[in-house]
Amino acid sequence: MTVTVATLGFPRIGPRRELKSALESHWAGRTDAGALQAAAAALRAGNWACQRDQGADVIPSNDFSLYDHVLDMTATVGAIPAIYGWTGGPVDAATYFAMARGTQGRGAVGEAADGCAHGGCTHGGAQGDGVPAAEMTKWFDTNYHYLVPEFAEDQVFRLSSTKALDEYREARSQGIDTRPVLLGPVSYLLLGKARGGDFDPLALLDRLLPVYAELLTALRDAGAGWVQIDEPCLVLDLSDAARAAFARAYDVLTAGVPGLRVMLATYFGALDDNLATALALPVHGLHLDLVRAPDQLDAVLATARPDLVLSLGVIDGRNIWKADLNAILDRIAPVAASGRAIQLAPSCALLHAPIDLERETALDPDVKSWLAFAVQKVAELAVLARALNEGRDSVRDILDASSAAVASRRVSAKINDPAVQARVTQADATLVNRASALDARRACQRAKLNLPAYPTTTIGSFPQTPDIRKARAEHARGDMDAVAYEAFLRAETARAVDWQEEVGLDVLVHGEFERNDMVQYFGERLSGFAFTRHAWVQSYGSRYVRPPIIYGDVSRPEPMTVAWWRYAQSLTVRPMKGMLTGPVTILNWSFVRDDQPRSATCRQIAFAIRDEVMDLEAAGAPIIQIDEAALREGLPLRRGDWQSYLDWAVTCFRIAASGVADATQIHTHMCYSEFNDIIAAIGAMDADVISIETARSKMELLDAFVDHRYPADVGPGVYDIHSPREPAVGEMVALLSAAAGRLAVDQLWVNPDCGLKTRKWSEVQPAIANMVAAARLLRA
Ligand code: GLN
Ligand code: ZN
Repeated sequence: MTVTVATLGFPRIGPRRELKSALESHWAGRTDAGALQAAAAALRAGNWACQRDQGADVIPSNDFSLYDHVLDMTATVGAIPAIYGWTGGPVDAATYFAMARGTQGRGAVGEAADGCAHGGCTHGGAQGDGVPAAEMTKWFDTNYHYLVPEFAEDQVFRLSSTKALDEYREARSQGIDTRPVLLGPVSYLLLGKARGGDFDPLALLDRLLPVYAELLTALRDAGAGWVQIDEPCLVLDLSDAARAAFARAYDVLTAGVPGLRVMLATYFGALDDNLATALALPVHGLHLDLVRAPDQLDAVLATARPDLVLSLGVIDGRNIWKADLNAILDRIAPVAASGRAIQLAPSCALLHAPIDLERETALDPDVKSWLAFAVQKVAELAVLARALNEGRDSVRDILDASSAAVASRRVSAKINDPAVQARVTQADATLVNRASALDARRACQRAKLNLPAYPTTTIGSFPQTPDIRKARAEHARGDMDAVAYEAFLRAETARAVDWQEEVGLDVLVHGEFERNDMVQYFGERLSGFAFTRHAWVQSYGSRYVRPPIIYGDVSRPEPMTVAWWRYAQSLTVRPMKGMLTGPVTILNWSFVRDDQPRSATCRQIAFAIRDEVMDLEAAGAPIIQIDEAALREGLPLRRGDWQSYLDWAVTCFRIAASGVADATQIHTHMCYSEFNDIIAAIGAMDADVISIETARSKMELLDAFVDHRYPADVGPGVYDIHSPREPAVGEMVALLSAAAGRLAVDQLWVNPDCGLKTRKWSEVQPAIANMVAAARLLRA
């Protein structure tokens, strides 16, 4: 039987970020809806042609989205919350973008060219006047963010968009018979939330299925032979009710739409205890992620119906490494020979991969020879299929080149640093333990720092103004020399330090003006990291990130932040914090090498950060903050895997932090709002002070800290930096009083929820002045 190639989904953003330009000029009112649609159609046509030219047989449609594919499904089934004022009929662009971005007042997530695009600190809060955007959250354990569907208990679903049908027809008119992609009904409900939170969205399944059936019927009648229905929730821990919902949904859909074949796609992990559920569904094909979960293939082969088409996800859709094609062939040749129909596919949609390696003309040629982006991954799949269909000799030279690339990477001196490899095996207790326990350290630090009660500070960054971005761009282009750029940044820093003294903050920061991004800045100064020019991936909407590539053993050739700290401290007698990004966050926001466990790479980064911590201390820094903004988001999808992740993540933080003397105070910062699950791990990090996001929850989030008797100091964020709104003194006093009712007064710090780089000075100045006033009122 002929082996075919399927791609599951392709990046939408365009090789030159065309989608971002088209969206942002449309939002700014410079182009009309027609121009936006034309740009989108051009991207789709380019994607289809590209995949066909690279050798894909089964090409997806409806994988494209103007903003988010979950939002597309919300529009398709007409689940528009009442606040958007939609009155039925096809969901128009204004309603769609209102859900995506809110209207007015929403200082538009998406527009600050240099803000935090990681998503961790972007969730819409109070947005001033207008309608707020729908809530956004992480798509499984990727750095893509989707808009969370919100359902009413009496939710009505109605087919309200013809997008899937239109795109199928559009491709057909270009001579490409696609396999339309839909997010499946059970995952769609499981990814959503009940308004008011008091019913189970799965209860809505029977109301939702007729809309899916209507859409599938229309696709079939338009000519589609197959559809791809994504049910990634099948790799999660599921309740019995959820498993039953899968059975019900696919019974109804396959019976209701005869003649249409369904490829059910699972990805991001193993089916494991959901395997029997998946294999019992009356679908025609099943896609398996064999990169994350290679071992599940045997179990599936042992029990799958002989006529079930298997889509083998053998090429990593989430990472950027060239595959070892011969090794994959060795594994799947027996399956192909067994007579079962198989397709070859990336592990998941290529949405999470950058588009085209060929555009990277400035990469180190060795590093480049080890990489494959979306376009190259489709080509790899085509080579695999040809080897199976026509014999390996038909593609011998390509297979040899693949093996050579894999071999050269393994032994390259660019990857292997024996000194680093030897150092990370070090495991004595002093490596992960501070010299003294928390209470003894606290006494030393209090004596040294002599801070008032309710000490005030900020999270690190101050506004990245248009001037700063302009200077950085000019410097990058070579239009501003290093001396001038340095002088410019020094002036900004000095101004920020002066202002902090004036406004009366107790612990100061230098402002992070020299940093483009909290991970990239460090990656650019560490060995073992590479940076691309064009390898953008979508984080949310029109916000894309260009994650660093960790390709080799990591070390720190020289101090990264000491000079800026020293300069800033020279301007004031108040304590100046040294500001670092932690090892787990650097790891979680990068493309990580696949030739050793993530934990091993993280440990190397931890040693590099430890070196920086020690140098900051030696330079005189009394306080060092190590941000772990992404620690929580690295949690594995299955609960059973959490503890081992948390164990090594906490160890890495402790390696970074534990070398300092008792009197040196270690802070950490986490900008999210759910701590119950990981509070024990947070305690185990053994930081002296943690600052967290709490303003929007009215300090309720502190309960986790109270319940677990968190012993160290806590800085519960007293105002939401995501909103341009000026927080009133009284509000912050009330929040701090609530905090003081939960924790000991001498445990409390006063700070905003997160860094201030996305705000304007005109917002920061009154907000921080009020915050200082609130702290003073409480002291009095
Ligand atoms: N120090 C960083 C800042 O203030 C922390 C940002 C974050 O946690 N996302 O910007
Ligand atoms: Zn933060």
